[in-house]
Order: sequence, then C-alpha cells, then structure tokens
Amino acid sequence: MTERVIIFDTTLRDGEQSPGASMNTGEKLRLAIQLEKLGVDVIEAGFPAASEGDLEAVAAIAARLKRAEIAALARASRHDIDQAWKAIEHAAKPRIHTFIATSDIHLEYKLKMSRDEVVKAAVEAVSYARSLTDNVEFSAEDGSRSDRDFLCRIFEAVIAAGATTVNLPDTVGYAIPQEYAELLGYVMKNTPNSGKAIFSVHCHNDLGLATANTIAAIGAGARQAEVTINGIGERAGNTSLEEVVMALHTRSNLIAVESSIHTKYIHPTSRLVSMITGIIVQPNKAIVGANAFAHEAGIHQDGVLKNPMTYEIMKPETVGLTANTLVLGKHSGRHALRSHLKNMGYDLSDDELGLIFTKFKELADKKKQVVDEDLEVIVTEGILRTSDVFKLDYLQVIAGNTVLPMASVRLVVNGRSVQGAGYGNGPIDATFNTIAKLAGTSSELQRFSVSALTGGTDAQGEVTVRLRENGLVALGKGADPDIITASAKAYVNGLNRLEYLKTHPVAEAAVL
Ligand SMILES: [Zn+2]
Repeated sequence: MTERVIIFDTTLRDGEQSPGASMNTGEKLRLAIQLEKLGVDVIEAGFPAASEGDLEAVAAIAARLKRAEIAALARASRHDIDQAWKAIEHAAKPRIHTFIATSDIHLEYKLKMSRDEVVKAAVEAVSYARSLTDNVEFSAEDGSRSDRDFLCRIFEAVIAAGATTVNLPDTVGYAIPQEYAELLGYVMKNTPNSGKAIFSVHCHNDLGLATANTIAAIGAGARQAEVTINGIGERAGNTSLEEVVMALHTRSNLIAVESSIHTKYIHPTSRLVSMITGIIVQPNKAIVGANAFAHEAGIHQDGVLKNPMTYEIMKPETVGLTANTLVLGKHSGRHALRSHLKNMGYDLSDDELGLIFTKFKELADKKKQVVDEDLEVIVTEGILRTSDVFKLDYLQVIAGNTVLPMASVRLVVNGRSVQGAGYGNGPIDATFNTIAKLAGTSSELQRFSVSALTGGTDAQGEVTVRLRENGLVALGKGADPDIITASAKAYVNGLNRLEYLKTHPVAEAAVL
C-alpha cells in the first residue's frame, strides 16, 4: 500500500515573512480557502502572539474552514500558547505548533539556556498545549545544526509529553540531501518512542536545496512536509509545495509516497499567491514559472509535436495549466457570475456581488473574454482591499510626443475626496507624482514592473511596485486593460499596504 505524506502549508505564516508579503485578513482568508481546495492537509495560518492582526486573521480562518487542520504557531511559552489557542479554539481541527531552538549556537547566543533548561521548557510547552488540544506539533528550531543525540533526547521527552508531530527543520538552509536524510533516519531510529509521532521536515532554500532535502527526508521516513506556494518565505524562501508534490507525483516509481494535493489547482493557487502578495514568480521557476512548460527550441518543438513525452515529463494540464478557458462574456448574467465565483471559492453577499458584477461588465466591454485570472483580479481589488485608506477615484492623463505629460487625479483619502494635477517625465511618472502629492507620502518607489495577465493584446496589464518607507517594505499590485490605470492602481495599493504595515507590525523575530 502506498504511504501518504501530510502536506503542511505555511504560506500564510513563514511565507508571509518574505519582505513586502504581508497580507490583510481578507486576503489571508481567500488564500486559506484556496489552499483547502488544493487539498492541503494542514494550514499554518499565522503566529497569533506576534500581533493582534495576526490573531484576528488566524481566528477568521479557523472559523471558516472545516476540512483542513488549522495550525497556529507559538514559542514555548504559556503566553504564546494561550494566544495561539485563542485564535484556533473554535476550529474544526485545531493544531498548536510550538517550538524552541535546539542547536548549541542558538542555546548559547540567543536563548542563553542550557540543554536541560531547553528540554524542560519544551516539555512544559507541549504538556500545556496538550491540555488544550490533542493535536500538538513540536519543532526543534535549527534542528539540522543540532547535536543528533540531543535531538533524540528532546523528541523522546516531547513525544512522552504528548506531541503528535515532531519537526526537524533546516531553519538556516544549511543541509545537504544525503546528510539531512541520514540525520532524520538516525533520529527516528534512536528516539525510543518515535513510532508514536509523525516526523516532519521544514527546509529553507538558501543553497537551492530545499526541495531536494525535503524529498530526501521523505525517503528517510518523514511523513509531513512543510512547504509554501511558489516557495515564498524569508531570505531565499521555503520548500515549494508544487515542486515536492510534482516530484512525488512524477517519480512515484522511486518514492511510493502520495500526497492528497489536487494537482490541477496548483497553477491557479500559484497565480493567486502571486496576485495577493505581489511577489512575481520567476519565469524559469519549476512547475509554475511562465517558461516551465514552454518548449521554445526548434528541435524540442519538433519532438513535442510528434509526441509530448519526448521532452515533457509532466503534462501541463496536470498542474492546471490549461489554455485560458472562456468563462464569461459581456452577455453573461449575474447568476452565471455568482455561480462561477462560487466555484472559484468566493461566497459573496448580494452587495458584494453587485459591485463585482458592475466591474465585470465594465471589463467585458473592453475585453472579449473574461477568464478566471481577470475575475480574481476584480475580486481581490474590489472586495479584499475594502479597508483601504486611499482609493483611486478618477484618473486622466495627457501624453504624447509633443506635450508635457500631465496627470489629473482624484483620490479618496480616508473617505475624503482630494484632487490635483502634476507633471512628470512620462505619463506614469506624472501619475505617480500626483498621487504621491495628494497622499502626502514620503515613501520611495524602489521597483516598477509590468507584465500581461493573460495572452492577447487586449489582456489586462499587471503592474507591481515596491515601496519603502522608514524600513517598511510594501509590494503593490494593480491590473487593468490600460497600463497607466494599472500602474496607478498598483501604486495606490502599495501605499495602502504601507499604511496597513504601520498599524500591523510584522513579528519582530524571524522564526523556524
Ligand atoms: Zn521556516
């Protein structure tokens, strides 16, 4: 019989630690619903002790989802565990995930604790968490650089205290596949009660080895993999869900371990994460990059035409990369829109549907075919960002080769309308200058990029901006058939994200 590996997705927790990736509660909830649809077993929804905003988002997800387990992260302290529990106590399947560092370097310089003290704190935390729920995970932070016999000792103690999952993370992305598999095998073999818990792995990609390490560890007996969509995360990121899942799927002849992921939702989920966080997927990224299934070279094309299996090891349809299906056109009615959005994971109120329907009609007038990506943009812009401080109300731009580019803008700032006009080197510069003046921002525009959301010349332009203010970094996104409008939307979205960050500080400590 084929064994199963539990897919533990931490896009909402570890992924959110990517610079600029912070998401609001509505965005996190939307993503959680998508992750459940994808078939993820466990969703790590956040770190409730980090901030009130995080607690609120985790609680919203816990209240909504019924199928996936909802994990909340907590340091090995009563306060953190209480906050975690407060967020998930009403979840259908709650899990408390607590951790403490186990490597000598962390013990000496960060925790200033002895090994005995660390074991005691871990056992206390797990026992306390276990008094609240019977689903408790313990992680040995910096596990891959920890003494292997100490790992056996602490895992034995926390399993005895009630941990049902124990995680051996490669927190700093230092491990090499053979070494990591050997370490995990050793620890599983030498922890006397290892059979009573599921062993988990969590890798970072600093050496580009996160997926390789995760696959090696699964080969050595790990039955939970901690991953993120598109591999987003701190520094070089986490192990990417799609790479692990498709490696297991494609090479099942070598590793007889299955996941419960519905692979056809991989691509839509990847798109959604990129759309919500503003983090663009590199074109050559495995599985979900724009070029991952593009066979450009002539010789390849010839082979692929004769038989796709000559060069393709996976079918694009398997990961949900189908030709954009026509979903709705300008004559589609409200009812068709509602049922289509419901299929995509949106349960909208009548008011919300009314708003989206209006925007859909506007887009359908400009663009022949409205596909899922377009609808996703309309909803993320229209519904998920409603708590915005700044709203773009009106934009008119004059540009050309004989005039000085000028933009007239009306912004709604905290419900109050302000308007003005300004010049720039080009139409986008003029637009940004004017918006900046009206918003009174002191942020710096660090990056600006444009791409097409789907194929065709009538495709919506998708713009990403990176803004920085007093050490805070925000990514803003906007889409529109008109590039200048898309740019203005992205800039305004970036400003709103900066405002959000000012009131919702990101967790101070980088963890796990
Ligand atoms: Zn991590």
